[in-house]
Amino acid sequence: MSGSLVVVGTGPGKVELMTPATQAALARATDLVGYGPYLDRVPDRQGQQRHASDNRVELDRARHALSLAASGRDVVVVSGGDPGVFAMAAAVFEAVEVGDPAWAKLDIRVEPGVTAMLAAAAEVGAPLGGDFCAISLSDNLKSWATIERRLKAAAEADFVIALYNPASKARPRQLGEAFELLRGAKAAETPVLFVRAAGTAEAKVVTTTLAKADASVADMRTLIIVGASTTRQVGRWIYTPRREAAS
Ligand code: SAH
Repeated sequence: MSGSLVVVGTGPGKVELMTPATQAALARATDLVGYGPYLDRVPDRQGQQRHASDNRVELDRARHALSLAASGRDVVVVSGGDPGVFAMAAAVFEAVEVGDPAWAKLDIRVEPGVTAMLAAAAEVGAPLGGDFCAISLSDNLKSWATIERRLKAAAEADFVIALYNPASKARPRQLGEAFELLRGAKAAETPVLFVRAAGTAEAKVVTTTLAKADASVADMRTLIIVGASTTRQVGRWIYTPRREAAS
């Protein structure tokens, strides 16, 4: 009897943004593994075991989930947003790569979810209407030099830039430094959006420009979108036209 492991994302917050495929996987699970606040978004089900853990121990959590699956349980690993975007799906495969060879033969699947960047964009219009990229500002798993190099390249290539993990208590300075770097490479009037708790009832949007952007507006629940040269306002919406140079 071998078990299974499905990695899911709950979406940005409100239950309507959790996909039916994810809800079905959650309903079939014998065991749920995840960071406490994400597990709290999943309704209790009788007979289902919950293994809540701290946010910082992703690899341990992945190993725990894999050993449960190897022992015959039907495990669902719960992330926020999409599980493949700066989240648990990659942690599971990192654990498979260096772990028990039997783990590579397990029935492992990933269900897509609505990532923060998409929910944030929908709150304001269509800022991701042209080419865009996503960069995490967390330097827990990569160097700040790498982040700077990627920010510069994204600015140079005129991508719309979505910034994940802009700030936390342990990392208060990164976003200010990222804005400084971008100011050296992009126009002062470039639209900058701070979207907090996107896709929830408490969603809050601050629209400003690169020159005026104040990093202290952001916290761990904020997604930032820095526009491309064509990103603009129409009525009360912000969008990036699909054409390179909109007429
Ligand atoms: N897997 C998640 C991202 C994890 S990284 C996803 O796909 O959305 C965590 C970062 O995501 C946060 O620091 C924040 O920048 C962003 N984030 C997650 N949920 C958010 C929400 N509802 N609104 C705004 N940003 C959010």
